[in-house]
Amino acid sequence: MTTKTLCIIIPVYNEAEGLPDLLDRLGAIADSLADEFALIVDYIVIDDGSRDGSFALLKEYDFGARATRLLRFSRNFGKEAALSAGIDAAQYSDAAVLMDADLQHPPEMIADFVRIWLTEDIDSVYAYKPSRLRSEGPMKAALSKLFFWVINHDLRYDIPPGAGDFRLVNQRFMNALRSLPESDRFMKGLYGWVGFRQTGLPLEPPPRLRGKSNYNPLQLLLVTLDAITSFTTMPLRLMALSGVVIAAVSAAYGIYIVIQYFFFPAVPTGIVSVLALIAFFGGVQMMFLGLLGEYVGKSVLEAKKRPIYILSDDISRKENTIADRG
Ligand code: UDP
Ligand code: MG
Repeated sequence: MTTKTLCIIIPVYNEAEGLPDLLDRLGAIADSLADEFALIVDYIVIDDGSRDGSFALLKEYDFGARATRLLRFSRNFGKEAALSAGIDAAQYSDAAVLMDADLQHPPEMIADFVRIWLTEDIDSVYAYKPSRLRSEGPMKAALSKLFFWVINHDLRYDIPPGAGDFRLVNQRFMNALRSLPESDRFMKGLYGWVGFRQTGLPLEPPPRLRGKSNYNPLQLLLVTLDAITSFTTMPLRLMALSGVVIAAVSAAYGIYIVIQYFFFPAVPTGIVSVLALIAFFGGVQMMFLGLLGEYVGKSVLEAKKRPIYILSDDISRKENTIADRG
C-alpha cells in the first residue's frame, strides 16, 4: 500500500490574532494523523488579501518539516475563491480537508473525517450543524429553512441544511470541483451539485476565540441572496408563478366589480383601495425587476470569464517532498 497524502487547506483573511494558536494545535493534530493513519500531511494556506499582517506571520511561522504552500491573493477575493485556489493547488493530494482559520472548525475532528475516508467508500465527509434553531434563534432558522427549500427544489441533488465548509474531499471530488468553470462559486451548493457519496458528522461550532466574524447580518443577507441567485433560477420561476396568481386574482376581482356596477350601483368604490393596489403592485414589480437584474448582472459577469482569483505570492516550503510525489 502506498502512503496516502492529505492536504489541509486553510483560507485566511485578517486572522493574524488567532493564527499561531490554530497552527500550533493543527501541528499536533497533523503529527498524530500521520502516525495513526500513516499519512503524509501537508498544508496549503491561502491569504485572501489580509491587511493585518497574516501573510508575514505565515511566512515567519516555523512549520518544521511539514510541506507547506503559502498562496497570497493580490487582493481580497472572498472565501469561496480562496477555497477554490486551495483545491486547485492540491492536485497531488489524495484528499484535502477544508477548514476555517478561526478555530470554529476544531482540528481534532479531522481524525474522524480521515477514518471514514479510509475505511468507507465515501468521497466527502462534512460537518453539519445539528440544531440551527437553538444556536441562531427562530428568525435566522426560518430564513435558512427557506433558503434550503429554494436551493433544494431540484431533487437530483441534495444540499444538506447546516452543512458547512468544514469537510474532507477526496481526489475525484476535487477533480469534479475543479472542472466547474463558473467564476461565481457558491461552494456549499457546488459540493451538493457534484454528487458522489457523502456523509455528515454533527458539529456544534464553538464561538470564535479571537478576531471577529467577517460577516455582519446585512452582509449575511446579501451573501444569502447572492448564493440563491448564483445557484438556481428558481426565484425566476416563482416570479412567473406569482404573476399568474396575481393576474388570476385581478381577473376575478374585475368580474366582481363589473357585476357590482350593474346590479348594486349604490355601493361606492373608494380611491384609497385603488391607490393601495397601485402602490402594492408597483412595489412588487420593482422587486421582481431587481431580482431579474441580479440574474442579468450575473450573466454579464460570467460572460467575461475572468479568473476566480489572482495570485501575488506562491511560496512552497519543502518543495522537494511535493515534487517527489507528483
Ligand atoms: N475568509 C476569507 N476571505 C474572506 C472572508 C473570510 O478567506 O473574504 C476566511 C476567514 O479567514 C476564515 C473563514 O474564511 O478562515 C471563515 O470566515 P469567518 O469566520 O469570518 O466566517 P463565519 O465563520 O462567520 O461564517
Ligand atoms: Mg468563523
